[in-house]
Amino acid sequence: MERTLSIIKPDAVAKNVIGKIVDRFESNGLRIVGMKKIQLSKSDAGKFYEVHAGRPFFGELVEFMTSGPVVAMVLEGENAVAKNRELMGATNPKEAEAGTIRADFAQSIDANAVHGSDSLENAKIEIDFFFAGRELL
Ligand code: GDP
Repeated sequence: MERTLSIIKPDAVAKNVIGKIVDRFESNGLRIVGMKKIQLSKSDAGKFYEVHAGRPFFGELVEFMTSGPVVAMVLEGENAVAKNRELMGATNPKEAEAGTIRADFAQSIDANAVHGSDSLENAKIEIDFFFAGRELL
């Protein structure tokens, strides 16, 4: 059993497809153990994406992630980290496999519908960033 962090990004929240994305997780054996809708501040987004701080797209990324509310979720299940990444599809929706969340709901490399932790180690850090233990049930 693993836990991983998923974020439904501002583009997908604005498109009113929260339920459709959650259904992908639930239909594929992942359970929602924590969930919240939240408006990130610039400082929150900068901290969350700290590893990308040196990248040329960092400013755009922070701008985009604070452009509207997001939905943060903790998904639990067997191989949850890899399974979530598989359901998400490639970072660039144009390269995402058919039937993945990004192929179906994303427009561009920055407005790409979802975030998912890329390792179990980062999942723990990212879950702690958004959730207190008592919010995970
Ligand atoms: P992910 O794990 O698939 O989300 O991808 P990364 O961890 O590599 O990048 C984090 C986020 O930064 C991605 O989801 C994109 O929204 C954004 N991003 C990555 N590469 C680029 C890029 O070349 N240009 C822009 N504008 N955004 C990017």
